[in-house]
Amino acid sequence: SVLDGRSAVFEFEMVGLKGTHRWLDSHAVPLPEQQDGRPKMLAITRDVTERKQSEEKLKLFRTLLDNSNDAIEVLDPGTLRFVDINETGCRVLGYSREELLSMSVFDIDPAINADMQKAIEAQLRESGRTRFETVHRRKDGSTFPVEINATLIELDKPYLLSIARDITQRKASEARIVRLNRIYAVLSGINTTIVRVREENELFNEACRIAVEYGKFTFAWLGKLDADSQQMTPVARAGRDDGYLAQINLSAREDSPGSCVLTARALTEAKPVICNDIASDERMAAWRSEALSRGYRSVAVFPLTLERKPVGVFVLYAAETGVFDDEEMALLVEMAGDISFAIDHLKKEEKLNYLAYYDVITGLPNRALFYDRLGQHLHDVQGGEKVAVLAIDLERFRNINETFGRHAGDALLKQVAERLVIMGVEVDHLARISADCFAMVLSSIREEADVVRFLESQVAAVLGKPFKLEGQKLRISAKTGIAIFPDDGKDADTLFCNAEAALKKTKLSGDKYMFYTPALNARVAEKLTLENKLRRALERGQFVLHYQPKVDLKSNQISGMEALIRWNDPETGLVPPSAFIPLLEETGMIIETGAWALAQAMTDYRAWQAKGLAPSRVAVNVSQVQLQRNDFVSMVERVVSDSGGVGDGLEIEITESLVMQDIEANIQKLRAIREMGVEVAIDDFGTGYSSLSYIAKLPINSLKIDRSFIINMTSNPDDLSIVSAIISLAHSLNLRVVAEGVETHEQAQLLRLLKCDEIQGFLFSPGVPAEQIEGFLRNKKTLQ
Ligand code: C2E
Ligand code: CA
Ligand code: CA
Repeated sequence: SVLDGRSAVFEFEMVGLKGTHRWLDSHAVPLPEQQDGRPKMLAITRDVTERKQSEEKLKLFRTLLDNSNDAIEVLDPGTLRFVDINETGCRVLGYSREELLSMSVFDIDPAINADMQKAIEAQLRESGRTRFETVHRRKDGSTFPVEINATLIELDKPYLLSIARDITQRKASEARIVRLNRIYAVLSGINTTIVRVREENELFNEACRIAVEYGKFTFAWLGKLDADSQQMTPVARAGRDDGYLAQINLSAREDSPGSCVLTARALTEAKPVICNDIASDERMAAWRSEALSRGYRSVAVFPLTLERKPVGVFVLYAAETGVFDDEEMALLVEMAGDISFAIDHLKKEEKLNYLAYYDVITGLPNRALFYDRLGQHLHDVQGGEKVAVLAIDLERFRNINETFGRHAGDALLKQVAERLVIMGVEVDHLARISADCFAMVLSSIREEADVVRFLESQVAAVLGKPFKLEGQKLRISAKTGIAIFPDDGKDADTLFCNAEAALKKTKLSGDKYMFYTPALNARVAEKLTLENKLRRALERGQFVLHYQPKVDLKSNQISGMEALIRWNDPETGLVPPSAFIPLLEETGMIIETGAWALAQAMTDYRAWQAKGLAPSRVAVNVSQVQLQRNDFVSMVERVVSDSGGVGDGLEIEITESLVMQDIEANIQKLRAIREMGVEVAIDDFGTGYSSLSYIAKLPINSLKIDRSFIINMTSNPDDLSIVSAIISLAHSLNLRVVAEGVETHEQAQLLRLLKCDEIQGFLFSPGVPAEQIEGFLRNKKTLQ
């Protein structure tokens, strides 16, 4: 080409003398005609070996890039626009390179958003690279999951080199493994259930529950087929039903109107039927929209068979399409087989079971069943709840057997069992353990003494009535060993063993019952002795009222009295209320005692009134147990009407913390009481956590500031400010304020300065008998 007069540029390879291998680039131009007439040219030749090599390398690189399995994208890190992309990238996305080079990542990644971009940028800034999973969208709109590995590279300017790997396969197999694991969990869950359950219903319910809970199926149900009507009845279900089943005619006949083809077919063909896409499957046409609206996307129906005949179906609905593949079906078919086996097994076992788990003579559960039921019961027990396990032994049973014969002995056991059942102990909580030993469970007991109360009242009464044997009347008695859950054992075995150990000790002693924990025996006995003594005290009128005056701080005169109960115990003398009120409350005896106190206070008050001595009011403490009762108002009414019909002069004191429980009901009751002329005071104020809005709502007349604030008010500024705040709060609500437990002049003086209305405390007088009060009133005792 040079020869025909034009310039040329060419490259050539030259092998040098020593075998060196260079690339040269020549730029040649023809020279004008020369003297010798021969055409000549001038060539400028450069050694371009380096450039040539890197170009080769680049080509190699490009080939590598284009042949990679991953999409490789070069991006502008600021805008995420494509600067370059390899062949694979174009192919998988379905765009040409030109198209892509005018696009950005945002056009192909529907998942990316501003937050994600920020996070990616932060990562890149920190380490120069990042890795995450996202989604890419093809030109045709379809999407696929990708894993991105991106690196920041610095060339003429910064670029983001991003390698996007299609992870569709990986995701699918991950999902498959998760699903299969779930199905394994279902299978093993159901198998464990099969081993444990004794009843068909329990088995069915558990199977559905496990399918939904472990298998993550949206809905599972199990139906039984009636052979005559060929109609199915759902007997268990779990998950989202929302009335779906109720609309379907669950017939085994496909042509029956409103039936479900899949279910019917599974029954008639006795083979599982799968529908992997409800949205497109013609067999689901009738129920498609109902199913889809509940989130069912695929469904499988498994027939349950008994002696090769279909007896029901187990149906599973999944929220995804295509879940029932071969592997999954193999497991599920196995599961349906296991359930069928269990149905069969349970049928045969039913009879056997009865003998294995029940005592033939009394019909009560035997030891094995008792342990099982107790174990389940303990499993369900709420935290903090106590359960008592009793071993009850009939005394002299062997004697009876020997004297009257075994037949009579059996009859006696039967009668004992009947009486225990009639008494109201659930059969589940009763058992005959051995020849003459019964077991009983008392659940949710508040305290150990409850067990003894139950034994001494109900059980003793039931067994105390004579039994009729062979036409003769016979009395029997029982001894009991008691173990308490959780202290004496956490499982059924340990608990009953310990109850039996306690029974053994009881048999050697003169006692009728004993606890496994020795300390309990003393504690419960003490409590019950006190209880009995208090009962007697009530019967014999051993309670007395003392009165403590309240003093008006303006006049320094007695303005009222508080009745304080004491027990005049013939053995020990006067007992303070703190020693017995809690037990009275626990046993309910406070109802009677409290009513007595109210009546007694009214009687005393009327007597003073008759003598012209009456203080303006007499206050009586009322326990929460009393206030809670529905008949509280009528009780007060009765007391008031018995003492002349007017409640004026009577006041009740209710502890702050107690009145706040069930506040609405209490407000009603207090209102009714005030209508009778009775006043209401809130006792121990400041110790509870009353909200001020409630205090304002309560129909009350006065607040009594708790003694704990008064004790320290002269030394502790916090207490002083609390007292001051309570007084001004009370006054703003038009309530009278009484300070309790005032013992010193200093306290009284301070309270006077704070405008407290009344004080009560040892400074003026402790609680004293009524006669002494009469003296105070007669002499007009004043605060010095
Ligand atoms: P409470 O209603 O807060 O009664 C005040 C208690 O503080 C009385 O104790 C009283 O003797 C004592 N006290 C009074 N002034 C002072 C003082 O200056 N210093 C000290 N250290 N104590 C003082 P008591 O009589 O032992 O009564 C205790 C609690 O028993 C009463 O507390 C009340 O909640 C209850 N109670 C008393 N009688 C009855 C009753 O008939 N029914 C009911 N349900 N509970 C009653
Ligand atoms: Ca009180
Ligand atoms: Ca008090």
